[in-house]
Amino acid sequence: MREIYEFDIIVVGAGVIGIAIAMTCAQKKKVLLIEKKSSFGSGISSRNSEVIHAGIYYPQNSLKAKFCRDGMFRLYNYCNKKSIPIKQVGKLIVQSDTNDREKLLQIYNSGLKNGCDELVLLDTKEIKKIESEIIAENAIWSPKTGVFDSHQFMKAMLYDFEKLNGVVAYNHNIEKVFCSSNFFELPLDDLTYIKSKTLINCCGLNATNFVKKIEGFPEKLFRKVLFCKGTYFGYQGKLPFNHHIYPVPNDGGLGIHFTLDLNNYGQFGPDTEWINYEDYTVDNSRINTAFREIKKYWPKCEENKIRPVYSGIRPKIGCKSNFEKDFLIETVQNHKIPGLINLLGIESPGLTSALSIASNIAENYV
Ligand SMILES: Cc1cc2nc3c(=O)[nH]c(=O)nc-3n(C[C@H](O)[C@H](O)[C@H](O)COP(=O)(O)OP(=O)(O)OC[C@H]3O[C@@H](n4cnc5c(N)ncnc54)[C@H](O)[C@@H]3O)c2cc1C
Repeated sequence: MREIYEFDIIVVGAGVIGIAIAMTCAQKKKVLLIEKKSSFGSGISSRNSEVIHAGIYYPQNSLKAKFCRDGMFRLYNYCNKKSIPIKQVGKLIVQSDTNDREKLLQIYNSGLKNGCDELVLLDTKEIKKIESEIIAENAIWSPKTGVFDSHQFMKAMLYDFEKLNGVVAYNHNIEKVFCSSNFFELPLDDLTYIKSKTLINCCGLNATNFVKKIEGFPEKLFRKVLFCKGTYFGYQGKLPFNHHIYPVPNDGGLGIHFTLDLNNYGQFGPDTEWINYEDYTVDNSRINTAFREIKKYWPKCEENKIRPVYSGIRPKIGCKSNFEKDFLIETVQNHKIPGLINLLGIESPGLTSALSIASNIAENYV
């Protein structure tokens, strides 16, 4: 005898995005959050910098610009309300190479267009007053950028979700989705099915692969995902910084930056490395390039004190020479399957954007 459990919404993937969406939708609907691992947040959401971004870099009107800025305000409010550790430490984007002057001004203007009117341009003397060991010709000061405890954030949202009668199920790797008369049916085993009218794919690195398991999903919309690994580096010595320090960004990431953590220690990175499969091992061969990058803005850095400590992986949609720069939210308009929402390529600033993405989904699509 087949057992079927019915929900209004099934969210697949309990990373920060799935949890935020599940919690927000549970205010009005009966929601199941389903996760293949034995706990929440062990994917991309546990391997990142935990920076609260202010929404500076992204092209005006992009989803990243919209969700990051709005998400930042929502995140500060939520964390303060729930007493989640958070610090508005501020950040400097530093231009140490004269050739990058134009790029720095472009970032500043992009920030202003995105509503970051708190940004300030600084010269060498002013930079020295804020960070005495940084060598740079110019910098952008972003006072709203912060750092927070993302694990506590996810935990608090899950608690709120369960208070709203949301259900979380771990250890279920969803491998097949059947579509029938406006319902999705997901087998958990031979005899147990879950079903819903709305299915939200928040599978992180696996999200593009997950759509292939959905019956009737148009093959022409299958997308290629590339993994862009980022290694972080610890420093075995005293670090003089009191703020996040970012160089002018390169193409794949935001450059080898320094992020201050909640304990006033910190780390450098992540760097960028294209890989073919999920692999989080770190190796010493990446130290030298990182050192050369860091030295440009912090000449006192010593190479023999740098150690690779951990890594994360960014999901990039497309190909190396032309990958998607924005978040992708696919709905019925794209794939013609009513009730299906795919969140693809949710890389940085996904943590900062989570509450804004969630409120957008809840208001517009469910
Ligand atoms: C190196 C790096 C640094 C970053 N730094 C920052 C930062 O400082 N600030 C910021 O705002 N953002 C940052 N980000 C971005 C942020 O971490 C991500 O956008 C966010 O964590 C993505 O969350 P997610 O829920 O989409 O994915 P995940 O956290 O990976 O969650 C997806 C979940 O889906 C589950 N799953 C997959 N397939 C299935 C299946 N078939 N069945 C059931 N479950 C499944 C997985 O087990 C996983 O738990 C960074 C990202 C990277 C890679």
